[in-house]
Amino acid sequence: MPTSDNKIISAHNGNSETEVVDSEWVASGKLGTRDAVLKFRTNILNSDISATSEIQDSNSDNNAADSKNPVSGSSTTPQLFDGRGRSNSIVTKSAKESAESEDTEADLNESGDFQCDSEYSNHEADEGNIDLPYSRTMPAHVLKITYKFMQTETRLIRKIFNRHGLTEVQKDENFSILWTGVHIKPDILRNLAPYQRVNHFPRSYELTRKDRLYKNIVHLQHLHGFRSFDFVPQSYMLPKELKELASAHNKQKGPWIVKPAASSRGRGIYIVNAPDQIDMDEPVIVSRYIVDTLCIDGHKCDIRIYVLVTSFDPLVIYIYEEGLVRLATVKYDRREAHLWNPCMHLCNYSINKYHMDYIKPNDDTEEDIGHKWTLSALLRHLRVQGHNVPQLMANIEDLIIKSILACSQTVIAACRMFVPSGNNCFELYGFDILVDNSLKPWLLEVNLSPSMGVDSGLDTRVKACLLTDLLTCVGIPAFSTSTRDTFDKKWTRFRSINFGKRTSSADSGNKRPSVSGSQNLHPLTTEEQRIVRNACMQNARRGGFVRIFPAEDTMQRYGHYLDTTTGIPLSTSVAPGQNLCPMVLPHNYNQVLFDNLYGKNAVNKGAKEGNSAKQRYAQYERALANSTRIVFCKKNIEKSEELCKNLRAEILSYINSGSELTQLQARQTFSRYLEAVLHRLTKEPRDFHEKLILKFLNRIGGAFKTPVLFKNPENAKVVNKARSAMVAKLLSDFLEQYIRDTEAYIDSFEYYNMIPTKLYNDFLNHALESDLEHVLALITCLTGLMPYLYNRYGLSVPPTPPIPSGQYGFLRALPAMVARGTGSREFHKCESYLRIEKANASGKCDKLPYIAANKKRK
Ligand code: ADP
Repeated sequence: MPTSDNKIISAHNGNSETEVVDSEWVASGKLGTRDAVLKFRTNILNSDISATSEIQDSNSDNNAADSKNPVSGSSTTPQLFDGRGRSNSIVTKSAKESAESEDTEADLNESGDFQCDSEYSNHEADEGNIDLPYSRTMPAHVLKITYKFMQTETRLIRKIFNRHGLTEVQKDENFSILWTGVHIKPDILRNLAPYQRVNHFPRSYELTRKDRLYKNIVHLQHLHGFRSFDFVPQSYMLPKELKELASAHNKQKGPWIVKPAASSRGRGIYIVNAPDQIDMDEPVIVSRYIVDTLCIDGHKCDIRIYVLVTSFDPLVIYIYEEGLVRLATVKYDRREAHLWNPCMHLCNYSINKYHMDYIKPNDDTEEDIGHKWTLSALLRHLRVQGHNVPQLMANIEDLIIKSILACSQTVIAACRMFVPSGNNCFELYGFDILVDNSLKPWLLEVNLSPSMGVDSGLDTRVKACLLTDLLTCVGIPAFSTSTRDTFDKKWTRFRSINFGKRTSSADSGNKRPSVSGSQNLHPLTTEEQRIVRNACMQNARRGGFVRIFPAEDTMQRYGHYLDTTTGIPLSTSVAPGQNLCPMVLPHNYNQVLFDNLYGKNAVNKGAKEGNSAKQRYAQYERALANSTRIVFCKKNIEKSEELCKNLRAEILSYINSGSELTQLQARQTFSRYLEAVLHRLTKEPRDFHEKLILKFLNRIGGAFKTPVLFKNPENAKVVNKARSAMVAKLLSDFLEQYIRDTEAYIDSFEYYNMIPTKLYNDFLNHALESDLEHVLALITCLTGLMPYLYNRYGLSVPPTPPIPSGQYGFLRALPAMVARGTGSREFHKCESYLRIEKANASGKCDKLPYIAANKKRK
């Protein structure tokens, strides 16, 4: 029997799109048909796969493993509703149910090179190259299905797309899927064709901005009672609500946790005992600090749950079966004296990873080792301790549904205005949840574009499974280019006729056959049929996702939060006659979908499969099966000493004979230099160097100021480790911003006397910290300019400081390159801290010979 991969290959050789029929890579219908979508799998993400036979091997492994697993064996072949009462079966195993081959050696430390968490590095290896022979035979490649990235750079997603044969397109080209790290502009949304997918809904910020989320939930507390919505810590926006905070503090004392309003990844967070300790320089959100927190082996932890919403009207919510648990590095101690320590009170990976005691899981199978666990490992751990795990997960599901209900009304209104088709948008949210010691979950925040950065094998495994399942579930239509063209033409005509009347495609087929009687007895309109059919097909493709809304008990538990006529969750007080989500024809999609899946109209039993509460809770607790280990390309630049020396000599001779660095080259050198310093300090912390960096960052100010004061140093060792971690985190945040800013610079042509771009890039790729330092110091001294920090014609450029010669001279001069006072009050805060070693440092520095600065070249 020919394998599916062979079918694809033969189709490719035959140069015919239509010959490519049903395969391992297409779901919900035959390729090219209306319902067919691409199927994504983790087993081809392995770099070493060169022949399709390996894919086959792992597939047969799957089947073998499944047959050994009674749970997965019985539940992994959901019935696919085909809209005519018949059912097809497709294999959509979740990662927890399937076991894939493990035959390739993993190198998950990403070559041991310094790698910034948020993947902002501008010198990454290109991942998942399309040149792999089998990528060209994938349906997505044959059908010319494309993806576009906008303001995001995620190696893992790129690799998944490339390996499945999708092609990246640039700015103005047509895409099948757009993946962005930011909100999408209405203009882009308005012009989407029905086959296009984008990874955000409009106005998602109602959920993902800390202040908006809190306000929306408070609205529901007012509408439906506090007790049903008491899962967010009491919070206040400062400076506006300072009075309210003061009176809350008088009623019940702190501590309070202070977070900058527009910030993430633990940036700028600190904890205070009383409101008068809060810095009012910028708008902040102050929340009651949950002191009695659940600890694992004495460490505070929080949970990241991945939540997929594929539609807001009707509301369709999935939770991914696996999540991540982040542990603080330092053991938890609730005493006031320890409130300063971010590595004890904050669980952010981006803070804790720089702590010397932070333990990364070595292997992708280590789910409960070190400071990052999987959700299922935590649940199993809690069960062993005798906790009621199903109750915890029920409360988490409830919290997720209610917070989405709280912002739905606004998102639906925006979708009506901007989004042409019901399938265009989907969104993956990262819910951060803290569990207290009575096992009550608290919602901390919802992340807009949860990080898909991978830093360990465990991360890679969970996120690769998550992303492949997400893309299959969401469904990228497997249309040929000609079908897409036809669609585009029809769609343009349709829009030109309907523009201004109504923006949802839903209305095009929304004529209900005129049958008298109550709404539920009506036959479904075309649009309602589409919705039910889509929901069934999507659920059949869900892989490791667990649908929590709608579910069997949805109407019983959440029906009273929905408007009785429209089914839309009402979250704001609506004046009589005012309708925030206007409809041309009244409909209640939530009710229709529920009735057709679980109610009296339910025609398809398969649609319910896997969604009962019991099945859901069991799935959260199951460990992910071992999956293919995923290897990322190494940067693999061999730093040969000889080559380094030659390149450096060449660059120095250019500079000495009058060449200046362009601003881009200078900024690239500076960012490489700081990366090298960060890398060095994380491996071998150096007190004095950290202080220099801290001083520089505090002077620069903005988000890079010291978020906690290093007070109460009870135990010098602990303090030092925590301080090192904080400095590294601040430097890494600065670098991220700096590298992003640098992307705005280009050298559009090479002018006379410029160091050739290729030569300079070669130098950057090979240079060591000392080489970079040397070039930066030389260029500063010779030109009297600091092009890596200031524009040549900037107004408030401070004079260039003298740069001590010898190793680390540039680092010593760095703080003085920023004008005093630029970093506002924060600089003064760290002054006292810096004073500790001031005497020694200044003594040493004074004696150091300086490179003559300000000796401008004529
Ligand atoms: P960010 O978006 O910057 O990561 P979070 O709201 O997720 O900010 O908070 C960061 C960390 O601070 C969390 O991991 C959690 O450990 C801790 N935290 C946040 N809010 C509270 C709170 N109200 N009580 C206790 N700990 C909290």
